[in-house]
Amino acid sequence: MARERSASLYEEATRLMPGGVNSPVRAFRSVNDIPFYAQRAKGAYLFDVDGNCYLDYVSSWGAIILGHADDGLVNVIKGAVEDGTSYGVCHPHEVEIARLIVDAFPSIELLRLTSSGTEATMSAIRLARAFTKRQGIIKLRGCYHGHVDSLLVKAGSGLATFALPDSSGVPEDLARHTYIGEFNRIDTIRNIVKGHKDISCLILEPIMGNMGVILPEKGFLADVQEICRKEGMLLICDEVITGFRVLYGGAQHMYGIEPDITCLGKIIGGGFAMGAFGGRREIMERLAPLGDTYQAGTLSGNPIAVRAGVYTLEYLRDHRDQYELMRQRIELLRNEVGRMAEKYAIPYCINGTTGMFTGFFSKKKISDYESAAGCSRTLYERFFKLMLQEGIFFAPSQFEASLLTFCHQEKEMTQTLETYEKVFETMRTEV
Ligand SMILES: *Cc1c(COP(=O)(O)O)cnc(C)c1O
Repeated sequence: MARERSASLYEEATRLMPGGVNSPVRAFRSVNDIPFYAQRAKGAYLFDVDGNCYLDYVSSWGAIILGHADDGLVNVIKGAVEDGTSYGVCHPHEVEIARLIVDAFPSIELLRLTSSGTEATMSAIRLARAFTKRQGIIKLRGCYHGHVDSLLVKAGSGLATFALPDSSGVPEDLARHTYIGEFNRIDTIRNIVKGHKDISCLILEPIMGNMGVILPEKGFLADVQEICRKEGMLLICDEVITGFRVLYGGAQHMYGIEPDITCLGKIIGGGFAMGAFGGRREIMERLAPLGDTYQAGTLSGNPIAVRAGVYTLEYLRDHRDQYELMRQRIELLRNEVGRMAEKYAIPYCINGTTGMFTGFFSKKKISDYESAAGCSRTLYERFFKLMLQEGIFFAPSQFEASLLTFCHQEKEMTQTLETYEKVFETMRTEV
């Protein structure tokens, strides 16, 4: 599969932008490849500038769930654009989306829209510090919450394959307020709170997505919630990926927890730039203009993004059976690919839940940061390149989730399984 036009665009891009990209993982560096350039996307497929077609398991990192260029959504947006692209004043659709989100998440009484997930987590942390009058925060190793200074400590996603453990440019004074616990290891969190009484909040991805998919073990989230309540710390659930993906109502609904603040993003913008954070009334009322905690945004609640979000959430609300189908499809993949891995003696196992999964090159069960970090990145690189060559686009890093859309249907599952067989057969002699 030729990628000449992509290669020449990338070459020019590297002369104009750092690493040629606007978000590091797009450079394909952790799989030692160079990126392809998208021309358009439809349903479950991406089409590049060289005329290649890829079955897409990145789905804009989870922002797309209905499928690319969904006909209904496209129609709504065409109409929305005619009405103006940004107002800078209130409009009825932001009331609509707020109502949809509040109805879907019982833990959210009030919410505010932002333009990205990063802004949502950044603002949630600020609010937690203001509300508790404490400075410290606990985050879990390998969880990624956007590129917020205080949260760029032991983070996953692009940072999991970053040469340095953390980002440069984060003041030590800030980083020293961030305490690192381990996902699925409640003792590590108990130990932190034993020694430090200055902690405002604990932020986590209720299902880890940015170290690859890692599910919470039985009781872990409930225990975290209990510690937070006992210590007077706020529990912040970062559901930027999981909200509206694993279930209508998110992972907190799935696992029966009630965070103080929830962060949302990706899906809620229907492919446009949007995030949100919301939670208990008494906490959210600390935000300006009611309270003393400042937070704002020129494009927050942008009418195009909001109308795309409203369309998407209403669709999800009215087609909840689709979640069960996504769950079944991933279960099928897990079982079938598991059998193939055994047949070809490939150390590979899939962690998955509704709408998201990760295949790890490891024999061991992946249940925490340590076990995930121990997988073979060399085998992943080989797998990624062979899959791409066969027209399937998985994330260009081992430590990411694969995301389904409603357009990943039987045909796509068959294509995926057939390609797995072919790729594993090629790899069998190499492992
Ligand atoms: C993507 C992501 C973010 C950051 O969202 P952006 O829109 O990229 O700023 C935050 N938290 C989680 C869990 C994410 O996956």
